[in-house]
Amino acid sequence: IDDSVAEEISRFEDSFAGINKRYRLINRIGEGTFSTVYKAEDLEYNSYDNRWDIDEREHRKWASPSSRRRSSRRPHYVAIKKIYVTSSPIRIFNELELLHDLKNSDLVCPLITAFRHQDQVVAVLPYFQHADFRDYYRDMKISEMRLYMKSLLTALRSTHMKKILHRDVKPTNFLYNPQQARGVLVDFGLAEREGTDWHQCACALSSEERRYRIAHSVYAQSQQAGHQTSSYPKNDTRNSRRANRAGTRGFRAPEVLLKCTQQTCSIDMWSVGVILLTLLTRRFPFFHSADDIDALLEITTIFGRKRMKETAILHGQVFETNIPSYSEHGHSLEKIILWCTGRTGDKSGPKKELDEEEKEAVQFLYRLMECDPMKRITADEALQHQFITKAYE
Ligand code: ADP
Ligand code: MG
Repeated sequence: IDDSVAEEISRFEDSFAGINKRYRLINRIGEGTFSTVYKAEDLEYNSYDNRWDIDEREHRKWASPSSRRRSSRRPHYVAIKKIYVTSSPIRIFNELELLHDLKNSDLVCPLITAFRHQDQVVAVLPYFQHADFRDYYRDMKISEMRLYMKSLLTALRSTHMKKILHRDVKPTNFLYNPQQARGVLVDFGLAEREGTDWHQCACALSSEERRYRIAHSVYAQSQQAGHQTSSYPKNDTRNSRRANRAGTRGFRAPEVLLKCTQQTCSIDMWSVGVILLTLLTRRFPFFHSADDIDALLEITTIFGRKRMKETAILHGQVFETNIPSYSEHGHSLEKIILWCTGRTGDKSGPKKELDEEEKEAVQFLYRLMECDPMKRITADEALQHQFITKAYE
């Protein structure tokens, strides 16, 4: 490890009294917006508090197959997540509480324990051996995508069964081991219980009421007055809408971008769709928007203006664009995949079709990237889709 990391680790050990009695910090393995994660050896492995239900058997299940064969005196590795002190106590509590609720959930990385020293909180998780997404997304076969998706969907089914939305499903939060064809979901820093943000979003209204609201909106009034709505309406008297928009740009579902206040577990399923699209197009990141409006426009490029208008109406919003290049009906996902993989018959390569397996993947992708959250496939349904049931064990 380089000197700056070693220095950082020793600073952390100095500031967190007693941590090096129990853990030997080895390296920094992750650095995100909300935390720094270290790999460490647990020096007092046998003294795990049984409240956390992590016994020897459990630990073996989490270890890599090669280390499983070694004697039980082998080192036990953990991931120590040092949550930035700038995070609010409520947020930290939320993450730890949800992880605790999910401790027996399939393919969700369990929380072993957590410590606080002054204003610093650390969460301790079993270390999970995984590969970097950037090292394998370009050459995954469809059969491997099925396994990846099966693992991710299994983790999400167990999360959603507890009525918890993850909110930040993306490759760096799903630690996947391609050799074992197994991954674990991590990072519940933005997760929440379904229904916490339950206000009066239009998608919970009848279609008549939705139409009434839109007919009386500032947008409609300015249209009647003959104004060209080529820019944002002036003197907009509406309350600005607030909704939880946490998550990562590029993985946000349309209803999150449209500030729907009644977001459900289906927002995670959209993010799963973006991951599958990434794998099929071999483009990562697939979306590169600068902000939410940009992100909506990127989605419009694919699905077309008509679909985006319909989607906005579901959430009591109006979607208008005066950019002429967006087509009314967008492009098929098949075509986008062919473009991205140089099979459209131009300079980039000879014209080719998607193969049968890819076509099956696209059928599944349409169910994930469904703009209407009510129609989008759930994790449980997705696990029964033939794209997944064909994954070999
Ligand atoms: P953040 O909130 O900062 O994104 P995460 O919980 O996503 O924190 O962890 C950041 C990174 O640390 C992950 O992307 C992963 O590379 C690594 N990491 C987290 N948990 C583990 C674990 N249990 N085993 C191995 N690596 C982990
Ligand atoms: Mg993360």
